[in-house]
Amino acid sequence: MNTIGECIYVERKFRFTEEFAMQLDKKDELAQFRKRFYIPEHIIYMDGNSLGLLSVDAEETLMRVVNEYKLLGINGWMGGSTPWFTFAEELGNQQTVLVGADKGEVIVHGSTTMNLHNLIASFFQPTRIKNKILIDELNFPSDKYAVESQLILRGLEPSSHLKIVKSSDGVTINESEIINEMSEDVALVLLPSVLYRSGQLLDMELLTTEAHKRQIFIGFDCSHSVGAVPHHLSKWGVDFAVWCNYKYLNSGPGGTASLYVNKRHSDKMPGLWGWWGYNKEKQFDMNLEFEPAPDSGKWQISTVNLFSAAPLEGSLNIFLEAGIENIRKKSIGQTEYMIYLVKELLSGEPYNVSIVTPLDADKRGGHVALSHNEAIRINEALKERDVIPDFRYPNIIRLAPVALYTTYLEIWTVVQHLKSIIDTQEYKQFSNKRTTVS
Ligand SMILES: *Cc1c(COP(=O)(O)O)cnc(C)c1O
Repeated sequence: MNTIGECIYVERKFRFTEEFAMQLDKKDELAQFRKRFYIPEHIIYMDGNSLGLLSVDAEETLMRVVNEYKLLGINGWMGGSTPWFTFAEELGNQQTVLVGADKGEVIVHGSTTMNLHNLIASFFQPTRIKNKILIDELNFPSDKYAVESQLILRGLEPSSHLKIVKSSDGVTINESEIINEMSEDVALVLLPSVLYRSGQLLDMELLTTEAHKRQIFIGFDCSHSVGAVPHHLSKWGVDFAVWCNYKYLNSGPGGTASLYVNKRHSDKMPGLWGWWGYNKEKQFDMNLEFEPAPDSGKWQISTVNLFSAAPLEGSLNIFLEAGIENIRKKSIGQTEYMIYLVKELLSGEPYNVSIVTPLDADKRGGHVALSHNEAIRINEALKERDVIPDFRYPNIIRLAPVALYTTYLEIWTVVQHLKSIIDTQEYKQFSNKRTTVS
């Protein structure tokens, strides 16, 4: 199981009145965290799975580091209140609770795709028998690009060395279909924890066990699950993982990413070496012989990007205070409530909104994906009504109620907007052309 237990979380008896939404907010034990965030004025923000909002806490740690730079100059490396020199290690250790890792297994570094490159470069060691990488057809394109270019660097043709698991319905993937593709020639499997369009949460434990039975390494891109779903990466035995910190973890646009490598791989060398991966005790000896850090710190390539990592410190404090299990509990309650409202108010004629996200809470990440033939225009109409949704081509609207700052009343209001946009056919005023960033 990816999550804790069966659906103990869920408030089964919902009602569709506004009053009921307000009652849910009153009973919400995490409600006090909303005021720690800057919510854009008059806006209902449903896009925290793409870019989480700024918190007062994250702003404080960012401004603290800016100020340390102002006052200390280079002395900030050792003299910062969290010393800059070990900032990435410190934040990595703080994140271990969110992903179920041991100290030293997580490091905050670079970007998701760059970390993925480095980890594939380490873990993909093709042999005569095992020389293929297995991915799925619904993964984030960047992950596929990284895998393809890593194959090409090894002189291997993606057309013959990349195996891609197909989705039978175009939005979800059955774990058994992935396991069926774990053939003898596969050396490495790379999968998302949560599929970015449909929001399906894969069973990482099962997939890891099955990969290991076949002597296959397995890595997960957890960009859409960290901060929304509890993980037990070490207990499950996952070989490696990457994730970005600017989605549910609210570290700011382009904020520094993270990587995890299971400590049983402590003898592995990084695929790409750089001086920031050096054993910290001796880094400034400036030896020409590369001596890697003893833990996941060795996968760092360059100097920690302080200003892109600093907001994460404040943001993580909120997660540690709220507790990831409590966040998951509320998140499931909120997505369950949203699904209930959509089913109740928007299924059938003339609405025809369908729910793409798995209805089983254990198979769901933090967002709800809806599909509709007019999704592009409905999405535009929502924006006009001061809702920030998220559109994914060709016909999916993603809505992410974020446990730390979304209210039940906001969820109720968004569903009312959808209803009225379709009732009045208001969406017909909008173009069905895509915008550049969504
Ligand atoms: C958001 C996201 C990324 C982001 O990649 P960057 O290299 O950090 O820009 C990568 N993978 C997945 C699955 C994502 O959802």
